[in-house]
Amino acid sequence: MADVVGALPRYQQESGHFAKVVMPMHRGPFLYEHEWDVVHKASFKSGGHVFDFTIIKERDNTLGFDLYCVDVYGLLDRERVYNYADDAERFLIFQICVMEWLNTWNHQPDVVHVHDHHSALIPFMMQHCYAFRKLRDIKTVLTIHNAEYQGWMGWHMGPRLPSWNTWNWGLLDWDNTINSLACGIKCADRVNTVSPGYMQELLEKPHSLQPLLQMEKGKCSGILNGIDYTTWNPQTDTLILDNYSVKDVKEGKALNKRKLCRDFNLDENLPLIVFIGRLVGEKAGDLVAPAIREAYRDKTFSFLALGSGEKANEDALESLKLPHAGYYNSQIGYNEKLSHQMYAGADFILIPSRVEPCGLNQMYAMRYGTIPVVRKTGGLKDTVPDYEDKGGYGITFAQATVEDVVSGIHRALILFSNKSKLHELRKKVMQLDWSWEASTMKYIELYSN
Ligand code: ADP
Repeated sequence: MADVVGALPRYQQESGHFAKVVMPMHRGPFLYEHEWDVVHKASFKSGGHVFDFTIIKERDNTLGFDLYCVDVYGLLDRERVYNYADDAERFLIFQICVMEWLNTWNHQPDVVHVHDHHSALIPFMMQHCYAFRKLRDIKTVLTIHNAEYQGWMGWHMGPRLPSWNTWNWGLLDWDNTINSLACGIKCADRVNTVSPGYMQELLEKPHSLQPLLQMEKGKCSGILNGIDYTTWNPQTDTLILDNYSVKDVKEGKALNKRKLCRDFNLDENLPLIVFIGRLVGEKAGDLVAPAIREAYRDKTFSFLALGSGEKANEDALESLKLPHAGYYNSQIGYNEKLSHQMYAGADFILIPSRVEPCGLNQMYAMRYGTIPVVRKTGGLKDTVPDYEDKGGYGITFAQATVEDVVSGIHRALILFSNKSKLHELRKKVMQLDWSWEASTMKYIELYSN
């Protein structure tokens, strides 16, 4: 969500539109590294409490658009973005602040675009809260980045919303609880996911929101995310050892691979497969270690894993280090520099996700000529057709199981032994267009619509 909200508005500005972003004020590095001006201060009542809020604006437009943050003392100004016990209240109050502020604007926006459950009550508030009547006709778009998190809250929170027409309680309700995401799906004028494949899965596979999306499917679509071509460019990337382009990809990747293999005590003559990501169930982080162990029974290849998440998955990866020294290594933690070096030095990247709304990993990897080995799901299915199918360029497998992951690894090893095919595919994936321009036009079309 952060990648999209940080990039899309910049491209919208560049295509001649005015985009402003408003988000909660977190005590992260960005806040302290930039200058801010106070643009609005007000207060409102919710649940018998008075909430004072301040809207601040980043002075230099560093990101290429107007960025506003909402500060509510003690509630929003925290270090982490979410995962606090009072998240339901935090995001509800954030949304009311945004509405209160928007209500004071002289020029109303054409479209209010909300993202995920944290802002999905806004279309309801605009349409059904008495105080925001004058915002009723503004069109709204809801983008779902991850439908697993829905912003549930008990009905005791209902009276915390600014006074609303209670005949409309059904719009807030899903399964006898207030469900912010479900409410957004009901009330927004358009709803999209961050890939067409993910929307299709939500519409077709059993899921708590499937019946609702089926009812609303006339306004639902999928728009693939783009990637930032300035940060992710092997020709200019300052975090990798040797810069290269599609013209000298063979030599460039070989140099980067050699350095990476030396740093991590891996055999550079073997195919190098990497994993980068969160070690959680959604990403099938639990399958990585067992699949490698299984694949090592009859084949040897170099493998480097970078990630963090559930302790059991971290431990399982670390436990492979000793028995497979010389061709296996892992680093637990978040390391952006190393991730760039891995995209540049690897032959293949393994992405076995159970759920993948879009996935950036495979797009970054392909920019660097690294062939993705992916489970056919959501955005991975949309962006990585199998190289044995017409026009394809990646390796795919069907199920998030150890057997299927191993079969994907085995197919990668076969491809590695066919040097001319591998070279052809590397050049092909490097030339694919994942730029934001194409996605931006699709969002503009959605707004116009
Ligand atoms: P998600 O946002 O669901 O985690 P994506 O594939 O969309 O998955 O994006 C994940 C991004 O985070 C990728 O750019 C990936 O390289 C990066 N990333 C994930 N884990 C790590 C890590 N441990 N170190 C460095 N980068 C990481």
